[in-house]
Amino acid sequence: MAELVIGMPLTLAERIDQVFPTLKPPQVARIAAHGRRRQVQPGEVLLDVGDQLRFFVVTEAKIDIVSASGPSESLIVTLQPGQFTGEVNMLSGRRQFTRIRATAAGEVIELEREQLLALVQTDSELSDILMRAFILRRVELIAHQVGDAALVGSNHSADTLRIKEFLTRNSYPHAYVDLDRDPDVQDLFDRFHVGLADIPVVICRGQFVLRNPSNREIADCLGFNEAIDRTHVRDLVVVGAGPSGLAAAVYGASEGLDVLVLESDAPGGQAGSSSKIENYLGFPTGISGQELAGRAYTQAQKFGAQIMIAKCAKKLACDRKPYTIEMDDGQTVPAHAVIIATGAVYRRLSIDNASQFEGAGVYYGATFVEAQLCRGDEVIVVGGGNSAGQAAVFLAQSSKCVHMLVRSESLAASMSRYLIRRIEENPAIDLQTCAEIVRLEGNDHLERVQWRDKRTGKTETRDVRHIFVMAGAIPNTRWLDGCVLVDANGFIKTGTDLTREDLTNAGWPMARPPHLLETSLPGVFAVGDVRAGNVKRVASAVGEGSIAVASVHQVLRE
Ligand SMILES: Cc1cc2nc3c(=O)[nH]c(=O)nc-3n(C[C@H](O)[C@H](O)[C@H](O)COP(=O)(O)OP(=O)(O)OC[C@H]3O[C@@H](n4cnc5c(N)ncnc54)[C@H](O)[C@@H]3O)c2cc1C
Repeated sequence: MAELVIGMPLTLAERIDQVFPTLKPPQVARIAAHGRRRQVQPGEVLLDVGDQLRFFVVTEAKIDIVSASGPSESLIVTLQPGQFTGEVNMLSGRRQFTRIRATAAGEVIELEREQLLALVQTDSELSDILMRAFILRRVELIAHQVGDAALVGSNHSADTLRIKEFLTRNSYPHAYVDLDRDPDVQDLFDRFHVGLADIPVVICRGQFVLRNPSNREIADCLGFNEAIDRTHVRDLVVVGAGPSGLAAAVYGASEGLDVLVLESDAPGGQAGSSSKIENYLGFPTGISGQELAGRAYTQAQKFGAQIMIAKCAKKLACDRKPYTIEMDDGQTVPAHAVIIATGAVYRRLSIDNASQFEGAGVYYGATFVEAQLCRGDEVIVVGGGNSAGQAAVFLAQSSKCVHMLVRSESLAASMSRYLIRRIEENPAIDLQTCAEIVRLEGNDHLERVQWRDKRTGKTETRDVRHIFVMAGAIPNTRWLDGCVLVDANGFIKTGTDLTREDLTNAGWPMARPPHLLETSLPGVFAVGDVRAGNVKRVASAVGEGSIAVASVHQVLRE
């Protein structure tokens, strides 16, 4: 059995056989058929931090996996014969962030990443064992902050929150150094020649110091997209990795299509910012959006889909085929078919100074990251839909009081019945109907909020430092710049919603009518929240993503 050193919480001790399983001889033999056997010597580094990934199974040696991002090493685990290296990076092709060293002479089996991908796609028994171990190892790395990224910031800074969310939602293990609490921060600053004015700072791969970097800069430095080829024409490019885009990636790749996904932020989309999704089929006790997204992301990669992170589609060149999608870094990717899965975002609070407090008291998502910031405080949730209801119920667990402000007279028309009951029965939630925010006050952070009862005109002012806004969705369609027909609110029209007149105006060139989820541009589909008529639920987004793939096959045959 592996000798595990870090932390070793009870749950891990119980699950150690799944995290570091020992393969049986016939299983090892099946892996050996995909790779090569080689000798190792004590002290030999098989893989170092930053190297391209390879996979090892120990047959007669002993291997240490150590964390080596700082000046000193710390042992994570010692692997024995029958055990193997690797974690979810093996699927994405991102670089190694631990050091792997032989400690005893002997033999290992070595596989290149492509050989490992072929193995997990063809051998379902080994695929189960390896995938489970890889995912559980990532969970442990995150829990113990073992990785090659450190964030130094302050809980009062909006950019710190942005970066924390970006790393967390991408399930990237990282250490967080809180400027306001950590006494050792000056040492770190001195070592990397950083001053307070540079905050937040990301120390990437233990060497590069990024001062208040954009999400794209972080992704580039950590090599999120390095292994992805952008030159060849893909069968399918999916834009957006929310539930609908991830579903399209899973179904497309598992059915043999060459799929590339572009995601401007992190996998999961709006669902990724939900603390708990309770109405998704098969999860009777609910599942966090982050977990659902993480599973779908790994699943898509297992089937061979490639997912580019922090790459925003800026333009669709729709006047010639193959279509080309231009990204915000100026690079382009060509595709025979495109699925638009760019979803929607919440309307910004229409108060003059609201943008001043974004990330510093005004938030458009309610995950554990934000909940930590307002623990024990009074908070406001704005909105009357399911997402606002969920946020209120979730925040009520850790906040002193949640004022839920709804513009309409009741929740009945906009929220699921189960959530309405939870809100009504929760003494920590104060529901205010016909209410709207009229004033925000504060300096660097929100400090005070005033709202008004629309029926009586009476206002109420409270010292509230956190508002969660979840009202009114706007589709992410501006980047399409007229390539596909949209409705009056900007949502994309598809299938039978496109009238004969629409198609004539759009210059529809085919003898056949558009497929079910096809837009006014042949071979370009729209799924999920971005589509006109979609019901704005995770299940429908997932359903549409998978249905569209069936039509993509037909289009590719045309
Ligand atoms: C807080 C919250 C709680 C919710 N709870 C529930 C629930 O309990 N049950 C339920 O059924 N539904 C829930 N919903 C609704 C559900 O999450 C959405 O219906 C669903 O996420 C829609 O999926 P989607 O893939 O269509 O779009 P989105 O989830 O919006 O994903 C779109 C993705 O596209 C990316 N993107 C946008 N523009 C670009 C671009 N130009 N280039 C590249 N990428 C781009 C975005 O970054 C995003 O990741 C909730 C929503 C929220 C916000």
